[in-house]
This record gives sequence, C-alpha cells and structure tokens, in this order.
Amino acid sequence: MIEVKRISKCFGRHEVLKDVSLSVAQGEVVCLIGPSGSGKSTVLRCINGLESYERGDILIDGQRVDRDGPDIHRLRTRVGMVFQRFNLFPHRTVLENVTEGPIYVNGLARAQARSEAMSLLDKVGLAARCDAYPAQLSGGQQQRVAIARSLAMQPEAILFDEPTSALDPELVGEVLAVMRTLAADGMTMIVVTHEMGFAREVADRVCFLHSGSIVESGAAAQVLAEPQHARTQDFLRRVI
Ligand code: ADP
Ligand code: MG
Repeated sequence: MIEVKRISKCFGRHEVLKDVSLSVAQGEVVCLIGPSGSGKSTVLRCINGLESYERGDILIDGQRVDRDGPDIHRLRTRVGMVFQRFNLFPHRTVLENVTEGPIYVNGLARAQARSEAMSLLDKVGLAARCDAYPAQLSGGQQQRVAIARSLAMQPEAILFDEPTSALDPELVGEVLAVMRTLAADGMTMIVVTHEMGFAREVADRVCFLHSGSIVESGAAAQVLAEPQHARTQDFLRRVI
C-alpha cells in the first residue's frame, strides 16, 4: 500500500535520508525507531507529501507522492497523520475538531459528519466530552481526539510521529490502547515511537533508522530481541 523506493533527501548540503526503502502492506503496522535526528519524522513527512525528496519514489496504492504535484491535497487526505503535539483547533469543540475536515474538505453534510464523528469519539472513549474545548482535556484525551479527527477523513493509512512523547507517563497507556484497537481493526500504520513494548506487541515489522539510513529491519520480535547490527544493539540498550 505504501512503497518508499530508494528515496534520498537533503536539507541544503546535509543529506538527511540516504537511499531509504520501506514498504507497508495493507493492514500492516510498521514501527520506525532510531535516535533523535536520524530522519524518522522526515520519512513520514515525505510519505505524506509535506516534504519533497530528491531521488527515489514514494507510491501510495501505486500513485506517486509529489509534494508539488496537482493531486497532493487529495493524496494527503488518504494518509492521515498524528503528531507529537496534537494540533487541535483551540477555539473549536472536540466534536467540531472532528467534523471540520469531513464537512469543509470532503463536503459531507453536517448531520452526517456529526453522527460519524460521535461514533469515532465513542471509539476513542470521548463521546461524553464532545462539547469540551481542547484546553479542558488532558494531553492523552487531546491526542485521542486527534486520532478520531484523523480517522474521520477515512484514511487508508495513518502515520504517527511520536504520538505519546509529549504526554505525562500516566497518560501514555490510554493513547497506546486506542492505537492497539486501530491495529487490531486492520488499519495500515507507520508508527515512530520510543515505546518498545508497543512495538514488540503490535508491530508486524520494525525498522531501525540511523543517520538517514535504514540499517536494520525485520519482524518486531527479531529486531528487538536479537538485533544484528551494532548500532541497533547500542540504541536498544539505551532505550529499554
Ligand atoms: P528524527 O525525527 O529522527 O528526530 P528528523 O527527521 O526530524 O529526525 O531530522 C533529521 C535531520 O534533518 C536532522 O539532522 C535535522 O536536524 C534535519 N532537519 C529536519 N528538518 C529540517 C529542516 N526543515 N531544515 C533543515 N534541517 C532539518
Ligand atoms: Mg522526529
């Protein structure tokens, strides 16, 4: 479903992605791990067309992602993105945050958008807070709203960029629980995370990125329990 084929990307003269390849089948969950600055966010941003890349190809269901191409807006609605900072609209209620995209981007009727949003909020455990404003919610609740908002666009895949890194430790579990449910429902996901427990339990595959290159990838159990590459071993020793 998502095919990243030998992409390279530079910021000025700094090559931040070097010949990165990654493919994700429908319904698969891939965790992308690696040290800070290794290029994890840039990989996600390229897949979502938020960044350009100099070499290689990225295909979503066979369609090439080109940040400057005519189809990029439509393509972007097919791949959701959930950020470390939840980026909710502060002056909109929880319900309005979830209905905004479907109404204004997808042209859905207001009543239908609201009823679909309510069932998504129910799914993330926040239907009762539909009239609250983001500032009235905990970080974990806000991130669950952000996930519901992403789901409301009916994406074919969702990219998560350290979705729990900004949360207080006691709030991490509720967000991971929602992500587990999505994975079990068959959502295609790429998850950048430092939550190795989540990676071990939920990911079909784990890719380890170092200095812009994928140095190791494979079944989660294998990469996390028996890393082959010295850099992966070193990284895992430090985060686990
Ligand atoms: P990660 O998400 O793994 O921490 P990033 O993808 O954010 O890494 O960054 C990879 C490298 O690219 C880093 O060296 C970072 O400093 C650099 N970088 C990221 N975004 C920009 C940008 N907009 N301009 C210049 N350099 C950037
Ligand atoms: Mg990052």
